[in-house]
Amino acid sequence: MTSNTNTLERERGILIVLSGPSGVGKGTVCAALRKISPDIVYSVSATTRSPRQGEVDGVNYFFKTREQFQQLIDTDEVLEWAEYVDNFYGTPRRFVEETLRSGKDVILEIEVQGALQVKQKFSEGVFIFLLPPSLDELENRIVTRGTETDEVIRSRMSVAIDEIRLMEHYDYAIVNDHVETACAKIQAILAAEHCKKERMYPKIVQWMDEVN
Ligand code: 5GP
Repeated sequence: MTSNTNTLERERGILIVLSGPSGVGKGTVCAALRKISPDIVYSVSATTRSPRQGEVDGVNYFFKTREQFQQLIDTDEVLEWAEYVDNFYGTPRRFVEETLRSGKDVILEIEVQGALQVKQKFSEGVFIFLLPPSLDELENRIVTRGTETDEVIRSRMSVAIDEIRLMEHYDYAIVNDHVETACAKIQAILAAEHCKKERMYPKIVQWMDEVN
């Protein structure tokens, strides 16, 4: 055996996709998760939506014009993209790929159409769907947020129902009744996913090659 035979190849990071209807609290859960699991890297999306009060370009989103967004699509710079309630949203590709290669886990907080595109490219990703405790509670959360007009609230509720129907494509579903509990469940899922034997095979094959 050579001196570095037991040095295992760096494991690729896990791609985590977190979806769930607008207002379910994905943003709050992600923010809490980033505090308690700072190693998880958050992917900042591009969007044509206008910034909400307090949102910062490059932190919450990369805010783009429609023309700029179209160019990202044309030059294949987005891993996935979707139109959601009259605006475009997409995940910058290079950042995600490089971060996964460096061994870090990356979380995408995206809607369902985009998540299904990601699943085609990264079937080994971990797809988590966040559910509200009830539909009434979901509407209540969107209304309380106070950032949307009545018409947008109606559209978001209608999209929410369609999104929940697509939950079957996900690996896990978590009810977001308490942010801390939802985060603890995501951490538990990730701990288990990192122990999946499939993720260990490349290392074990390397060991076996060395002893043969
Ligand atoms: P919001 O306008 O409330 O920030 O986001 C609207 C929806 O777009 C949410 O469901 C959010 O998860 C989703 N979203 C945010 N970024 C992306 C993205 O990069 N791609 C896709 N497909 N959806 C996104």
